[in-house]
Amino acid sequence: MSAPVTESSAFTPRVFSGIQPSGGLTLGNYLGAIQRFVGMQETGGYETIYCLVDMHAITVWQDPARLADATREAAAGFIASGVDPERSILFNQSRVPEHAQLAWIFNCVARLGWMNRMTQFKDKAGKNAEAASLGLYAYPALMAADILAYHATHVPVGEDQKQHVELTRDIAAKFNHDYGTDFFPMTEPVIEGTATRVMSLRDGSKKMSKSDPSDMSRINLTDDADTIAKKIRKAKTDPEPLPETAKELDGRPEARNLVNIYAALSERSMDEAMTELAGQQFGQFKPMLAELAVEKLAPISTEMKRLTDDTAEIDRILARGAEQAREIAAPIVKRAYEIVGLSAG
Ligand code: ATP
Ligand code: MG
Repeated sequence: MSAPVTESSAFTPRVFSGIQPSGGLTLGNYLGAIQRFVGMQETGGYETIYCLVDMHAITVWQDPARLADATREAAAGFIASGVDPERSILFNQSRVPEHAQLAWIFNCVARLGWMNRMTQFKDKAGKNAEAASLGLYAYPALMAADILAYHATHVPVGEDQKQHVELTRDIAAKFNHDYGTDFFPMTEPVIEGTATRVMSLRDGSKKMSKSDPSDMSRINLTDDADTIAKKIRKAKTDPEPLPETAKELDGRPEARNLVNIYAALSERSMDEAMTELAGQQFGQFKPMLAELAVEKLAPISTEMKRLTDDTAEIDRILARGAEQAREIAAPIVKRAYEIVGLSAG
């Protein structure tokens, strides 16, 4: 075998993450992802790149008339939550063709056996997997391309995306091995904070998702105060009062979830929240939670509304972000094509 192609001994600390504009942003997206994005932007020491992954969204059918607006609305949600387009690169995926270009190579690197283990595909395809799109199945290879087109070293995500970031590492390692190179980094998932897996308000065994058919299952960043209060009032619970410690919430997924949301919104640990809440009935706790959620989310939804009123400004931000993104991705993807023996650009 020929000597390894040594490309890079150290990678620039670089953060990449994305959210699909497959519906409105939820409290799960906010606590599990967007707040983390802002945190990593504020921490400094990283270049931060955040993406509305609209090409992932079409792995299930999206109304074309709605998709572009959902992309703008999600971008507004990022900015309203504190992602600063002056300090982070913010753009939508379909403006940067390098993602799809690299994804093709990764489709040829990833193994069917790996893809067959992906739980998100099983969850989303459901019983009728034969009718799911090929794109939904190949989704993790496109996600690996999103990340590795930037040689990203860190990816902040919710718990549900851990498996896909691990697959990204497997793809990078196999590419490096198969082509005798060290071109792609071993990206680290960053799964931090109190609420890495916010659950559905209707079913404590399912995660909160923007694509859940029931709007009552989630809190949207655009919900008004009355809607938030109603959804929390109707959230599934059990008849017991809240216990003294977080440990005692084991086996009570719905109760745990509401306490978890309360803790995350008040920036406390679960145990700290329990000291305040111990002994409370849901009749007492739910209005407190609703008030806190409204207090935290109302300024974000007001700012989102203001930003989405000026679509030209959002489009300008996304176009500029895409230019900055391409400056990083184009040479990396060109080099990946050369390594494989394809004609690069
Ligand atoms: P969809 O139902 O269309 O898959 P989603 O709500 O799962 O939408 P994604 O765009 O798939 O949102 O995920 C964006 C980011 O939000 C990912 O980092 C994901 O891990 C995180 N995330 C999604 N749902 C939750 C949740 N319930 N709790 C914590 N993090 C979440
Ligand atoms: Mg998802």
